[in-house]
Amino acid sequence: MENKENNLMEKIISLAKRRGFIFQGSEIYGGFSGFFDYAHYGLALQNNIKNSWWKKFVDSRRDMFGMNSSIILNPNVWKASGHVAGFSDPTEDGKQFNVMFRTEVGAGEEATLSYLRPETAQGMFVNFKNTVDAFHPKLPFGMAQIGKAFRNEIAPRDFIFRQREFEQMEIEYFVRPDDWEKYFEYFRDEMLEWMESVGLDMGKVHELEVPDGDRAHYSKRTIDFEFDYPFGRKELFGLAYRGSFDLNNHKLEYQDEESGEKITPHVIEPSFGVDRAILAVLLSAYNEDDPERPFLKFKPSIAPVICAVSPLLKNKPELVEKAEEVFGKLKAEFGRVVWDDNGNIGKRYRRQDEIGTPWCVVIDFDTLGEKGDELKDTVTVRDRDTGEQERLHKDKLVEYIKAKM
Ligand code: ATP
Repeated sequence: MENKENNLMEKIISLAKRRGFIFQGSEIYGGFSGFFDYAHYGLALQNNIKNSWWKKFVDSRRDMFGMNSSIILNPNVWKASGHVAGFSDPTEDGKQFNVMFRTEVGAGEEATLSYLRPETAQGMFVNFKNTVDAFHPKLPFGMAQIGKAFRNEIAPRDFIFRQREFEQMEIEYFVRPDDWEKYFEYFRDEMLEWMESVGLDMGKVHELEVPDGDRAHYSKRTIDFEFDYPFGRKELFGLAYRGSFDLNNHKLEYQDEESGEKITPHVIEPSFGVDRAILAVLLSAYNEDDPERPFLKFKPSIAPVICAVSPLLKNKPELVEKAEEVFGKLKAEFGRVVWDDNGNIGKRYRRQDEIGTPWCVVIDFDTLGEKGDELKDTVTVRDRDTGEQERLHKDKLVEYIKAKM
């Protein structure tokens, strides 16, 4: 079992490199532990995942305010938040090691010790007052941020699961103290719904109620959403009730504009790791039922490529011209469309299977009308999941793909 599972990680890592999803960071210098680079298709997948998150949690709502705070904050932020004193992991000899990356801001004697943010959350808390003053939100409301976070992890491992530089998608949702349980349950459902929408294998997602002793002292409730990775059941995302801890730390409060009432709202924090989401999506999508034909069964909404267009032969100008016409139309409509004329058709299908492209369109001699008018201007559409092919009029392609999506 363990071997098979190790194998699966090796397969995913090698596919990610071969097909241009994720590369080892600084590879030509021997790599750098805990750092990875997203290549063209990995970046497309990442963008699609982030966009779907932003759409659900920000754009489709009226109570959520987006944020893109700086990565380096005044070091006093990290003192107030408790990170300078306590954001530590034990090293092998039992000592505590603060995992915040240190950096110096300014030159010479003016230089100030500061930190790369280890989470996006504080960048939102410190903008709480500005947000209230700018947008006048009524409680409950939230702030949302997607961005990089840095932790000098003692033992980075398991590909993009535990990195030293990674990305988070976080929400700080501010509620009246009495309402926290209601909104905790609400976000728990919202999180699960989003996980399913991006194609996570929900049979591998588990909720862990973090027990009293393991929770941060200020939290009355935390759920870790765990995923069955090949290297074990490990944290995917988290949902924490943070009480008034953060706003108190920064001495911030909220005043109701109508009643004048002053309160310190409580916080529900849904926290998502972009990279852990990507790894879980890759693992959920990987299908090798037919070992000769492994493929990534991405949902079309998050697939890096929606459709590949190929002329049957690349040295026949009539085919290429027709294929260019079809390609142009699909590209204008869907954007995530690629031209693939490399190798024979079988090779192209294998490649697109591994990229997770739901549909391949091939322009052949029938398209040119060589077998008569009935087939003229029809193309082959090949389905990634079944391998089956259909013939379709070229002008029906956009409609066909839209209907399937
Ligand atoms: P772990 O216990 O695995 O170290 P954590 O509990 O410290 O994670 P949080 O501080 O809750 O993680 O961070 C929120 C989210 O950020 C996590 O649920 C995870 O998705 C992601 N994350 C945290 N650390 C890393 C890392 N080193 N590499 C990639 N993603 C991470």
